[in-house]
Amino acid sequence: MSVRVVARIRPLLDKESSSDIIVRADRVAEGKSLTVVKIPNPKNEAEEFSFSFNSVYTDETTQEEFFNAEVTPHIKPLFAGVNLTIFAYGATGTGKTHTMRGGLRLADRGIIPRLLSAVFRRAKKVTKDSAGKTTVRVALSYYEIYNDRVYDLLTPPDKRTPAGLPLREKDGKTVVVGLQERECADLKDFEKLYIEANQHRVTAATKLNAHSSRSHAIIRVQITQTTSDMVLESVASAIDLAGAEDNRRTENDKTRMVESAAINKSLFVLSQCIDAIVKGEQRVPYRESKMTRILGLGQNQGVTVMILNLAPVRKYHLDTLSSLNVGCRVKRIEVKEVKNESVFKAPKELTTGRQPLKPIMNAHN
Ligand code: ADP
Ligand code: MG
Repeated sequence: MSVRVVARIRPLLDKESSSDIIVRADRVAEGKSLTVVKIPNPKNEAEEFSFSFNSVYTDETTQEEFFNAEVTPHIKPLFAGVNLTIFAYGATGTGKTHTMRGGLRLADRGIIPRLLSAVFRRAKKVTKDSAGKTTVRVALSYYEIYNDRVYDLLTPPDKRTPAGLPLREKDGKTVVVGLQERECADLKDFEKLYIEANQHRVTAATKLNAHSSRSHAIIRVQITQTTSDMVLESVASAIDLAGAEDNRRTENDKTRMVESAAINKSLFVLSQCIDAIVKGEQRVPYRESKMTRILGLGQNQGVTVMILNLAPVRKYHLDTLSSLNVGCRVKRIEVKEVKNESVFKAPKELTTGRQPLKPIMNAHN
């Protein structure tokens, strides 16, 4: 299994002009699929930079096509114990939320509602195929990290502690103390929770005079499969990252500068972690930021998909280049898949914990 890094170039918006398009998708050769992004050198427009990825998607890619290509293949492994982590990285306005959440229309739905839909479908199949001997529990946590503080999105904003939720180490894993985990019986159940939580996110941001694009939103889907003598747990996480724009170029007040510093640091640590995993380094600096620490990035992440969301127009030129550079550094990583082992139930008490596993690296990075 590999850490996949893919680019998704969004369509032009109504207010944007096609004469301002500077980003284009390309192939390495005739007949091959799109894997290359080309963009002019801002210092010399006659020159063009090329970046290659596992895959590149364009304005013609529908939500369904994107999901089928980048997420569907990981659903079956997820139920076999391979964790899945999906990031959307990019400047504000490049399509991260569209990719992760999407619109309300069925065809516009993004990765998260489609992921849950696929999980519930698979859960049904697992139960049916086992003639009811395997039960599957799906539980959801949803939180945001703003200014390096963790806030539960399943809790209404007026019940928030301003200092955020504390972290604690438990069995070698970092847990967010007090974070809610809610069981969802079906897609309807999930949708109700999700809509409510997203409303909390907006309300909380408004209260702080901030914008939700300034925080990381992390959804965690915990799948527990239980038979009479075994328990298998796996986790799918989807992260709509804070805007990766370079705030040094825009005017900022003090609050915005504090936000920017927190965002820059966590995005930097994230790219360093992925870089380290890709290179098969022993030490993944996941402890250096709260997000990577909670995700346990590099400990037991299984499959990671990093989506670089890109806007096609000149206005984003430098931000696009900076995203492409982050993505480029992390491409071509091969990481062997790491499975969560089934845990045998102790005779009397139920054990649901799993051993933290180290990723096994291929020699040819
Ligand atoms: P971000 O979350 O990165 O700030 P958004 O997801 O809000 O960006 O996208 C910015 C705008 O572009 C929104 O109006 C969104 O609907 C539109 N958009 C982004 N990606 C697509 C796409 N693939 N197809 C159609 N519209 C898109
Ligand atoms: Mg957004």
